[in-house]
Amino acid sequence: MATERTFSIIKPDATERNLTGAINAVIEKAGLRIVAQKRVLMNRREAETFYAVHKERPFFGELVDFMISGPVVVQVLEGDNAVVRYREVMGATNPESAAEGTIRKLYAKSIGENSVHGSDSQDNAKIEIAQFFAGNEIVG
Ligand code: UDP
Repeated sequence: MATERTFSIIKPDATERNLTGAINAVIEKAGLRIVAQKRVLMNRREAETFYAVHKERPFFGELVDFMISGPVVVQVLEGDNAVVRYREVMGATNPESAAEGTIRKLYAKSIGENSVHGSDSQDNAKIEIAQFFAGNEIVG
């Protein structure tokens, strides 16, 4: 399997409950390496750009409001098959459907406030990483 990188966000519902370390422990136990990480407060324009793919969806406004409601931790994760692997570790979007042991099953509050984001493809991972990190901030 190829070593690759994915982009992760620990969302405001999780930073608010002081769960950054607990979520990072799940990530690291799953064999993914955190090769870049910083805590930021996104502004509205950054959040709208990040979720532009969802701009026609009914939940877009709520999603943007949520993502700027408090600090987030943005991360680059590295490992074998990292994009697919992290999606497995996160669990389903709706925590009620998420598998046991996944981050969303353990910690998500609802389908909207679901604790983490992970890229859904290698192409999107590259775009999302570039939105938040300069190359020299990622140390593999
Ligand atoms: N979301 C929401 N309501 C929905 C579906 C999604 O608020 O009915 C939010 C939720 O925070 C989700 C994000 O929009 O994580 C992006 O949705 P997507 O379908 O891409 O899910 P993900 O890839 O995050 O599992």
